[in-house]
Amino acid sequence: MRSEELRIGLGRDLHRLVENRRFLLGGVELPSDRGELGHSDGDVLVHAVIDALLGAAGLGDIGERFPPSAETWKDADSMELLKIAFAMVDDAGWRLINLDCVVSCERPKLLPYREQIRASLAAALDVGVEAVFVKGKTNEGLGPLGEGRGVEALAVCLLERTKDEKNEP
Ligand code: MG
Repeated sequence: MRSEELRIGLGRDLHRLVENRRFLLGGVELPSDRGELGHSDGDVLVHAVIDALLGAAGLGDIGERFPPSAETWKDADSMELLKIAFAMVDDAGWRLINLDCVVSCERPKLLPYREQIRASLAAALDVGVEAVFVKGKTNEGLGPLGEGRGVEALAVCLLERTKDEKNEP
């Protein structure tokens, strides 16, 4: 038992915003005239969270685990990908202590949906809502993000080892 072992993970993703796509953040659809372009449903926040979790556990990254070249993941529900990725992390003997995220886009405003997004992520990650935080930031009108042409997400997580090896108590 090495319960003192902690690992930090960092994830980042960016998607273009285009018409006729849903705008999804953490499994929650926000009202918007544009949404994330992507092979999957494009949920930029979930993708950043997956990379943070996999990175912390040393289990690769989202591109390796769910390659965009694979037809399996076309239009995939990113929350399902998150559950699969988190199951890998759990199987490897890690528990999530907390997750903190930043989403950068000019619109829509994230704040009215923040609690819903936190609850959605917390439910998928088997933690209380207090262990998940999400902040929305604009890009102050600067660059492609500031022009509303894209959305970026950053995620950092802390994992604690719960067991030495898979299948050990
Ligand atoms: Mg992505």
